[in-house]
Amino acid sequence: MPFAKPQASLSEVAAPAAESGRPVAAASSATSGPAQGRAPKAAAKKAKKKAVSAPAGGNTTADGLRRLGLRTDMDFILHLPLRYEDETTIVSIHEAGFMMGRPAQVEGVVTSCDIQFRPRRQLVVTMEDQSGPLVMRFLNFYGSQTKQLAVGNRVRARGEVRQGFFGNEMVHPAYRIVLEGAPLPDVLTPVYPTGEGVSQPLLRRAIANALGSVDLRDTLPPALLEQLGLMPFEAAARLLHNPPPDVSEDALAERSHPAWVRMKFDELLAQQLSMKRAQLARRKKGASPLKVEGTVFKGLLAALPFALTAAQQRVLAEIRADLRASFPMQRLLQGDVGSGKTVVAALAAAQAIDSGFQTALMAPTEILADQHFRKIAAWMEPLGVQVAWLTGSLKKKDKAAAQALVESGEAKLVIGTHALIQEAVQFPRLGLVIVDEQHRFGVGQRLALRNKAGDARSPARVPHQLMMSATPIPRTLAMTYYADLEVSVIDELPPGRTPIVTRLIDQNRRDEVIERVHAAALEGRQAYWVCPLIEESEALQLQTATDTHAALSAALPEMRVGLVHGRMKPAEKQGTMDAFTRGEVHLLVATTVIEVGVDVPNASLMVIEHAERFGLSQLHQLRGRVGRGAAASACVLLYQSPLGMVAKQRLATMRETSDGFEIARRDLEIRGPGEFLGARQSGEALLRFADLQTDQWLVDKARAVAQELLRDDKTTVDAHLARWLGSREDYLKV
Ligand code: ADP
Ligand code: MG
Repeated sequence: MPFAKPQASLSEVAAPAAESGRPVAAASSATSGPAQGRAPKAAAKKAKKKAVSAPAGGNTTADGLRRLGLRTDMDFILHLPLRYEDETTIVSIHEAGFMMGRPAQVEGVVTSCDIQFRPRRQLVVTMEDQSGPLVMRFLNFYGSQTKQLAVGNRVRARGEVRQGFFGNEMVHPAYRIVLEGAPLPDVLTPVYPTGEGVSQPLLRRAIANALGSVDLRDTLPPALLEQLGLMPFEAAARLLHNPPPDVSEDALAERSHPAWVRMKFDELLAQQLSMKRAQLARRKKGASPLKVEGTVFKGLLAALPFALTAAQQRVLAEIRADLRASFPMQRLLQGDVGSGKTVVAALAAAQAIDSGFQTALMAPTEILADQHFRKIAAWMEPLGVQVAWLTGSLKKKDKAAAQALVESGEAKLVIGTHALIQEAVQFPRLGLVIVDEQHRFGVGQRLALRNKAGDARSPARVPHQLMMSATPIPRTLAMTYYADLEVSVIDELPPGRTPIVTRLIDQNRRDEVIERVHAAALEGRQAYWVCPLIEESEALQLQTATDTHAALSAALPEMRVGLVHGRMKPAEKQGTMDAFTRGEVHLLVATTVIEVGVDVPNASLMVIEHAERFGLSQLHQLRGRVGRGAAASACVLLYQSPLGMVAKQRLATMRETSDGFEIARRDLEIRGPGEFLGARQSGEALLRFADLQTDQWLVDKARAVAQELLRDDKTTVDAHLARWLGSREDYLKV
């Protein structure tokens, strides 16, 4: 019998992290909190204080559980171990000293227990087995531990043995007091994700309870399981929480064991079902059909100085068909940097305006919003369309004026930053919302828009939505995170672009690069100079930007050198951008504020300093600022050697390809999906168990099964979602 039956139900358990013990048969026990890798001093103190004031099952535990997302019994079942500890064997202290950084479990009798004050307050306990002594050192500890570890008590301790001043030593071992001959567990001990107020022992008991009381029958029909070769849910759940002695530890650690595969499949399936169901629900909502193809649309098309590419025509047709529907469009328009998304967006807006509705266009930065405003207003105003400009930094008076234009319905097109959703702007007839560079907005902002009222005359209708992104999302990711969206792809660049030549140059040849900028300027070409990225400190980042500007101005006395950075006043920023656009500034020194969207076709040289500090998609975006005109363009990536492995891979990728999709694919490879999407983007939607890279084959299966089930088997869909989502409505909302 490896573990004692859980002695207390969850509601009876008070759980200061460091005081309750792991149940061991016929033994009082204690596991030190700090050894579990959490409960630093402050937290431990807090937990202790609360334990006094809060009764068993009081707020601390309940809050802690809620923070871990543990509400229902099923949530506990799905709280799967992070890893396992092997407590099935005991080695001698002598042997443990040779295990070189691998954790070992030893057992002995306490021979001394003292609080020492040098170099700082700590609890130092010595114990001994036949092979010799071991020092246990605790830098965080409770007074009660001196009682538990009193001389003569028998201790089982687990940790890494190091050679300390007094020989074999464990710092913060996990330990428990046992009676002589206490049986060893014969299965691996699960280690769960924990949080403040929730200890391992508490979780173990609660999960054991849940395993005894929850209906673990399968949500999926047996025929399907057989067809897919999946392990039954109950067997998988029991195995993962209590792995039997003969299980492959490696398969558990790598999460390739069939039990893990089953859980990952279920999770992916739940996500697919929930996203697809959200998509179906959206189709049931109303939207105003935007059907008219009138003077604005035709006028704009006729006025364009170029013909649309075949890809632009194709995605435009897809978008326009969606706009005619009486349920809201939610379409993601992907297209590499410079592929010409703006004009597609403007034509979609034209159709909305022709149909008598307003359009809101949101961009993530003021510079980009401003540029859209100028470009699109120049297209639209000659056609009699009033365009309003709305950002957070507008003066009160101007903002009020802009809002009045929107609220009277006079402004048919409103362009701005996310102030558009934050400020309480009321659109009397909002038909279409366009979000540019949507990957810069969080999931929350995307949802805020999803629910924005569309047409004041018929409030049940929501606006159509078009999201645009130049960060192409690889297929697997798109299928999981954007399963509720339709996707259009612009897969060709406008004609006449010459490829950008990318060169990697050591930072110590910076002077040669400055000379090159000089030569380019003499030929009438313009250049960007991107300052080194200093993520740790905004103040330092600004300092670097101004220093770089000063140095380059001094080095290039006959050139006009401009500067833009994030902390400048919007008017100042705009002034400089304008001067650059008009060709009056030759060299624009900038921080990453120019990363997205900025479009100045005459600029054909881009220098990025300390390129090794930038991410791959960031470099691609930055490089996309050049190569927009007919002139041959170049991008110089200055790097500081020696380069680390990852930086080397990134820079090599930049030199080898300029295809955004290929770059995204490699970025995913280098970084992994969690980071690729960025915390904001993925948020709670991140999968807990499945890994999109190694489990791609499961994503494909889950997707196919989801489609089948939604078509033929609603009962199974409901049961599966009830198990996996619990109280959450869908995978994007929590
Ligand atoms: P992005 O997709 O990165 O947002 P933009 O919409 O800014 O790209 O377009 C990049 C540049 O290409 C702009 O200067 C735009 O006017 C121009 N452009 C867009 N479509 C075409 C086309 N079909 N032919 C030629 N130039 C185009
Ligand atoms: Mg753009």
